[in-house]
Amino acid sequence: MDLLDTLTAKGLRGEVPTREEALAVLATTDDELLDVVAAAGKVRRRWFGRRVKLNYLVNLKSGLCPEDCSYCSQRLGSKAEILKYTWLKPDQAADAARAGVAGGAKRVCLVASGRGPTDRDIDRVTDTMAAIKDADPEVEICVCLGLLSDNQAERLKAAGADAYNHNLNTSEGTYGTITKTHTYADRVDTVQKAHGAGLSACSGLIAGMGESDEDLVDVVFALRELGSDSVPVNFLIPFEGTPLAKEWNLTPQRCLRILAMVRFVNPDTEVRIAGGREVHLRSMQPLGLHIANSIFLGDYLTSEGQAGQTDLDMIKDAGFEVEGAGEATLPRHRADVAEAAQAGHASGGCGSAASACGSGGGCGPCGGHAHGPAAPAGEASEASDDELRGDLVKVRRRGAGTELAPNA
Ligand code: SF4
Repeated sequence: MDLLDTLTAKGLRGEVPTREEALAVLATTDDELLDVVAAAGKVRRRWFGRRVKLNYLVNLKSGLCPEDCSYCSQRLGSKAEILKYTWLKPDQAADAARAGVAGGAKRVCLVASGRGPTDRDIDRVTDTMAAIKDADPEVEICVCLGLLSDNQAERLKAAGADAYNHNLNTSEGTYGTITKTHTYADRVDTVQKAHGAGLSACSGLIAGMGESDEDLVDVVFALRELGSDSVPVNFLIPFEGTPLAKEWNLTPQRCLRILAMVRFVNPDTEVRIAGGREVHLRSMQPLGLHIANSIFLGDYLTSEGQAGQTDLDMIKDAGFEVEGAGEATLPRHRADVAEAAQAGHASGGCGSAASACGSGGGCGPCGGHAHGPAAPAGEASEASDDELRGDLVKVRRRGAGTELAPNA
């Protein structure tokens, strides 16, 4: 197939495909699916070998958000019966983080709901990072606190943060249909602030909100343009009690095509399968590992993932290996840029850099709903009651914010 030969050759050289080629990946048929996965797999192995980076989410503050991101179970007016709690104490967060690291996670992602942090919140996170790094100085920390004000990224960097996550989520053209309380430009500004402060930028998307193929390609090229070091690909978790509860648009095949498109556009960037992995890829998860080089271990912010041990078994059974703490995530040419940025040589603009964190949703892997444009060709535009799979969505009831042990 000419398309896949072209994409493979470009990916092996670290070149970005054309927009038309990216769209063509999304338009491939189920008969071509394994060829698409194989082609993306060659590119993945060229830059990341058979390593899988594990990331572990700690939800520092859950629910009660004043923002209205329609995909998010923590949004203003959400009726989703998620855990709701205010800031974890540093030792509580460090305990949760320790469980993830013990389970094999190389990166801990500290996430809090909300529009953005106050300076007092930055102090809290500073104390939390100190508690985590006291226990394990090697662990990477990615922080995700929403929109940043001036100088907050610099404070986080000085306090030891390695990365900052803030997802673009969807295309600029459809962002206003997803969220009214802030703009796409606000999100771009925060990614730029983080990157400008020398933090590795982690920024990704959510698929399955009713967006078109063009929207998906737009946001993935925008992420490339922004210099995101890590691209978390979330698949919408349609939480009951959120506006997108009936938005069941995704199939495992569609998810694999989306992952492949993201890989071809970001051949040498960390591509992470984020929220919705178990819900939408289901038994096809191992095929996703041939495309993405990173996943979350265990649970998400407000929903439960499969058991951490099942994640580890899946990686081993599929012939992959967990990336060790001493191994670089990004290829050398990308890591050099990242290290320069971490050393404080980054300019205000966004180049490219090291690995990164991520989550679903805007502030983290939430899940949600949106009133986007027409569904992609070949996908259901509106799921009937028979097609709803609420049984696949399990609200998190263990780990951070509970008395029960974390899943790691
Ligand atoms: S994605 Fe973040 S800002 Fe948006 S509603 Fe959820 S927690 Fe709030």
